[in-house]
Amino acid sequence: PADARVEVLTDLDVEALLPDPRTGSDKYTGGVPGIVAGSAQYPGAALLCVGGAVRVRPGMVRYAGPQAAAVVARWPEVVAGDDPSRAGQVQAWVAGPGMGTDEAALDRLRTVVDADAPVLVDADGLTLLARHPELLAARRDRPTVLTPHEREFARIFPDLDLADRLGAVRRAAALAGVTVLLKGHRTLVAEPGGTVTVNTTGSGWLATAGSGDVLSGVIGSLLAAGLSPATAAAAGAHLHGRAGERAAALRAAGAHQLWDLLRVPVQR
Ligand code: AMP
Ligand code: MG
Repeated sequence: PADARVEVLTDLDVEALLPDPRTGSDKYTGGVPGIVAGSAQYPGAALLCVGGAVRVRPGMVRYAGPQAAAVVARWPEVVAGDDPSRAGQVQAWVAGPGMGTDEAALDRLRTVVDADAPVLVDADGLTLLARHPELLAARRDRPTVLTPHEREFARIFPDLDLADRLGAVRRAAALAGVTVLLKGHRTLVAEPGGTVTVNTTGSGWLATAGSGDVLSGVIGSLLAAGLSPATAAAAGAHLHGRAGERAAALRAAGAHQLWDLLRVPVQR
């Protein structure tokens, strides 16, 4: 496309993009993300995803899934229930980490895909989108972010050749009409118009179970704060990578420590 460009964000760029909590007049100014994650099989994914969202310091986090009690035990400030259609006002939805792929998961995914709010779909949510392409088509031209790793990407876009990651992610975004964040070493964020942002933070230390769940929560809070899909995705990947670098320096072992290491800068 004519507007195809490749961009890189710096720490200063990201700092300037983040909302300043001091200017918030109520919780909706800071943003209210809604998280659909976790299941009986993967209860930890709910905590990891909510943890990423909480650490960005939005106005409020809502949770809608089967792990509400566990989430509230860890974060009493989270407003939790089990049905996203009864969640109250949400400014951006995140759906997928550890949510499973059964009927209940599909119902929750449908609810957030139908919502008139930005939506991020990750992990099991991506598996469901690969099985139900009409759900993805329905989000075209509404703010939507997909955050696949390479295997998830190949399931949704089987015809795109990942030997050329830049070309593949750019084509995926154009085809689906949504923002696509392709994870891995040098995470790429592509917008439908052709612009790709290359992430330069992070390291192989992030390749650990649950790390992607934290990332989707981080991006969800940035979407809820009003950042555009591509900006939220690129800024979230940048912050997540910096937290991963801190974890590596401290030799911290698990994804749950990423949220403690997320240092979201506050403008002075
Ligand atoms: P997931 O595959 O969903 O668990 O997410 C893994 C996370 O770790 C993503 O944010 C990846 O971008 C990140 N990651 C994995 N391997 C690397 C790497 N070699 N360098 C930087 N980030 C990585
Ligand atoms: Mg993942």
